[in-house]
Amino acid sequence: MRAVRMTAPGVLEQVEVPTPSAGPGEVLLRVGAVGACHSDLHILDAPAGLFPTPMTLGHEIAGTVDEVGPGVTGWTAGERAAVYGIIGCGRCRACLRGAENQCRVVPVGGFGLSRDGGLAEHVVVPASRLLHIGELDLTQAAPLTDAGLTPYHAVELARDRLRPGTSCVVIGIGGLGHMAVQILVATTAVRIIAVDTSVAALDLASRMGAHDVVQAGPDSVDRIRALVGPPPDGADVVLDFVGADPTVTTARQVVATGGQVLLVGLAGGTLPVRPVADEPPTVPLETMVEVPFWGTRWELQEVIALARAGQLRADVQTFPLADAPEAYDLLRRGEIHGRAVVVP
Ligand code: NAD
Ligand code: ZN
Ligand code: ZN
Repeated sequence: MRAVRMTAPGVLEQVEVPTPSAGPGEVLLRVGAVGACHSDLHILDAPAGLFPTPMTLGHEIAGTVDEVGPGVTGWTAGERAAVYGIIGCGRCRACLRGAENQCRVVPVGGFGLSRDGGLAEHVVVPASRLLHIGELDLTQAAPLTDAGLTPYHAVELARDRLRPGTSCVVIGIGGLGHMAVQILVATTAVRIIAVDTSVAALDLASRMGAHDVVQAGPDSVDRIRALVGPPPDGADVVLDFVGADPTVTTARQVVATGGQVLLVGLAGGTLPVRPVADEPPTVPLETMVEVPFWGTRWELQEVIALARAGQLRADVQTFPLADAPEAYDLLRRGEIHGRAVVVP
C-alpha cells in the first residue's frame, strides 16, 4: 500500500509498504481521511531519536473497518469510525481514570507519534480506539479527533472560569483555533476575542462566531487590553494555540488576576512564572497556567456529539495522499485555512 512516512528526521515521502493485517484485538481500517496537524511539522523538525523512523505520520484519523482481528467484538467490516489517537498503557492511575493523555508509563504514545499513523491506505488500530461517527462525513470526522478534541479538552479545563459575562482570548485561529471558537460558542456564553497574524484566519474566526478579532502585532496587548480592561482586570481565560514567545508573552500580559492561561501550541515559547514582591510579577496573582495535552476518549465522544448536532464543523481543504507533502508545505507557510485533510 502507499504510505506517507517520515523516513528520516525532516524527511517526508510517499513510499510503498506492505499492507498490515489486524492482530488480536485490532482492526484494519481503510483510511478515509487524515488531518494534517501542525504537530506533524514539530515531529518532522524534532532532533533524531525523539520519534521513531521510519514512521507513517498522521494522528487525526477516520476510516472504514476493513478487517476485524481475532477476539474483536462490537465492530464489523464496513462500519465507519473515528480513531482516538492516544494509546496509553491502560493500567496506570491516569489511564484507569480515563485520562490516557496523562499516562504515567507511555508519555506520548499514539498513531504517528510512537507507531504508524494514518497517512496511508490502511492503518491497524486497537478496537478500543474506535468511536462511532453516525452519519458524519469522514473528512469531517478526522479533524474532530485532534483539532476538535484538543480545544474541547482545554475548554473543559477552563470551564469554571468560562462563565457568562467573562472573556476568552483565543490566539491562533488555525486547525485547532477555529474549532475552539465554535466550541466556545456552542458550550459557553463568553465573549470570544480571536487573535491571529493572518487576516484570513481572523475572517474565519468571525464566521465561526468570535465577537472581536485582533490582528497580532506589536500592539496586540494594547488592543486586547482595550477590550478586556486594564490590570488587575483582563481576560478570564487565554487559550494559546501557537505557544511561541510573542504569544505566551501576550497571554500573560492580558490575563486577569485570578485568570487562566492554557498553553496548547508547541512552538517552544517560554512563560516565566516568578512570584516576587519587589518587581512586577511575570503573571498576575492567582493566575493558573496549564499545559494541556490532547484529550480523553469520553471527551472525543462529546466532540463527535457536538458535530452530529451541527454545532461543530471543520473548515476543510482536501488533498490526495500523493499531495500530503505539499499540504504540509502550505501549512508551514501559513497558507492553510482551517484544516488540511488528506484523503488517501
Ligand atoms: P495551524 O498552523 O493550523 O494554526 C496556527 C495558527 O496560528 C495560524 O492561523 C497562524 O496564522 C497563527 N499564528 C502563527 N503565529 C502567530 C502569532 N505569532 N500570533 C498569532 N497567531 C499566530 O496549527 P494547528 O494545527 O492548529 O496547531 C496549533 C499548535 O497546537 C501547534 O503548535 C501544534 O503543534 C499544537 N498542538 C498541540 C496539541 C496539544 O495537545 N497540546 C495538540 C495539537 C496541536
Ligand atoms: Zn495534532
Ligand atoms: Zn497509563
